[in-house]
Amino acid sequence: MKNVQTKRDREKRMVSEMIALYCCKQHGSPKGGLCPECEELAAYASQRSDRCPFMETKTFCSSCKVHCYRSDMRDKIRIVMRFSGPRMMFHHPIAAIRHIVSTKAEKRRLQKK
Ligand SMILES: [Zn+2]
Repeated sequence: MKNVQTKRDREKRMVSEMIALYCCKQHGSPKGGLCPECEELAAYASQRSDRCPFMETKTFCSSCKVHCYRSDMRDKIRIVMRFSGPRMMFHHPIAAIRHIVSTKAEKRRLQKK
């Protein structure tokens, strides 16, 4: 199913951009570069996306009920999301809007059940 692959790629790109933005602003890394800690987090997040068995039905890891992140990584990604989430709206309005729309759709879907 190519749709799942597209979704997976999109999620991975989005997450890595959020980490890059966070690292650049918070850790002073040059644009496009990551400090070792964020590098590890980015690799971990991408690996989780690769292995996520719910890619077909879920919208995004942050709205995924099955929290597959290790707890220390989950804390880190949460901080990154909180920091970069609102800023993504500015840097990548289209991707951010798409994310909001799909998250809302998912919430509606869950409420119906
Ligand atoms: Zn960093």
